[in-house]
Amino acid sequence: MVPEIITVPLLQLASGDRLSLQVYRYVGRYPGKKIYIQANLHGAELAGNAVIHEVLAGLKTLDDADLRGEIWLVPLCNPLGVNQRSHHFATGRYNPYDGRDWNRIFWDYEKQVDRSCIQQFAQTHLQTSLATLQAAYRHTIHQKFLADQQQEAQGGGAPLHHRYRNCLQSLALDADTVIDLHSSSNYGLTYLYYGGDRHLGAALFGLDLAIQLDRYDGDAFDEAFIKPWLALERDLEALGRSLRFDLEAYTLELGSAMQLQPDSVERGVQGIQAYLYGKQVITQRWTTPLPLATPQLYRASTIQRYYAPTGGMVRSQVALGDRIAAGQVLCEILHVPKGGDAYPQVMKMPAMQAGLVFDVGINQAVNEGEYVLSLLPEPGTATGSPLHDAVIDRETAQGNRNNQSDD
Ligand SMILES: [Zn+2]
Repeated sequence: MVPEIITVPLLQLASGDRLSLQVYRYVGRYPGKKIYIQANLHGAELAGNAVIHEVLAGLKTLDDADLRGEIWLVPLCNPLGVNQRSHHFATGRYNPYDGRDWNRIFWDYEKQVDRSCIQQFAQTHLQTSLATLQAAYRHTIHQKFLADQQQEAQGGGAPLHHRYRNCLQSLALDADTVIDLHSSSNYGLTYLYYGGDRHLGAALFGLDLAIQLDRYDGDAFDEAFIKPWLALERDLEALGRSLRFDLEAYTLELGSAMQLQPDSVERGVQGIQAYLYGKQVITQRWTTPLPLATPQLYRASTIQRYYAPTGGMVRSQVALGDRIAAGQVLCEILHVPKGGDAYPQVMKMPAMQAGLVFDVGINQAVNEGEYVLSLLPEPGTATGSPLHDAVIDRETAQGNRNNQSDD
């Protein structure tokens, strides 16, 4: 299969040079979903680019009859962030021009309209078929997206972060699934964030760790896509109609900053392939699948971040992926009290509760109050949870498929 390659103009720099995005668009022989995948929105988070390379190579081996719908792939989706450097370090999480986090700038329909607008829409379309309802709401969102841009253009023009977000979101607003490929800004595990109650879709990735966004930071790319749909589902539910749109948004975290870790890249590629196959977007796999993991479910609101109680040098006592008991020492901070004749001292930092070490600070020099590491508190097993049930459903479905292919 050969993609259509589209170069999308982004911004002109002070030097006169122009930045652009390179979009790879695969169109299947049969109609179906649109899957949008981008990488490197945060400048230090590189691994997703390698994942997209592998997915492109994989799709090349398939026939267009193996694809239902479209797959859009956008590597290096933030050229300003990707190229930002301080000595050897990629520092492109924040735009140095305005201080904004590149993944907290996105246009969210739910925030742009009065709460009553979505309630009114739900009321008006209470009896409408799901397909018509979805198309009508998508049209409403799109019209508002365009109207807001026109309004800015008629005023003093749009600021840089609006121009950037408008460009990126215009590629993804009509997608059925958005997958945003990130990594930790520090040392991190490979796992998935998912919005709403899309447990079944999250389980399709076959990763061993999934975190439900039960609390939103606000204005992230995945959140901005899914939140308006979750709002409409809630408003319809309040009126007595329970439904779920087949629309999903994920942020796939692929290991540590500034690195293409082979294991994270492999699991990212396998996860995307498994998701595309599970959603029947592709009907053939391009590589033999890895054994599926049973995901552990965590909620984002339970994440415990630890900050340095004093300035000093961090001597870590735990490693990424360790399971920690309550009270266990996470790290020692070597610090030098100033004044008098005090000697250098060691301060121990204990875990407040048992948990999994899933993110560790990359810099072992800290000022007081700076980030050290994060824990996901136990218990987090998915047994008996909706996610666990979804995994069982998926495994049963795959068993059935295997049985069918044996016939
Ligand atoms: Zn990120």
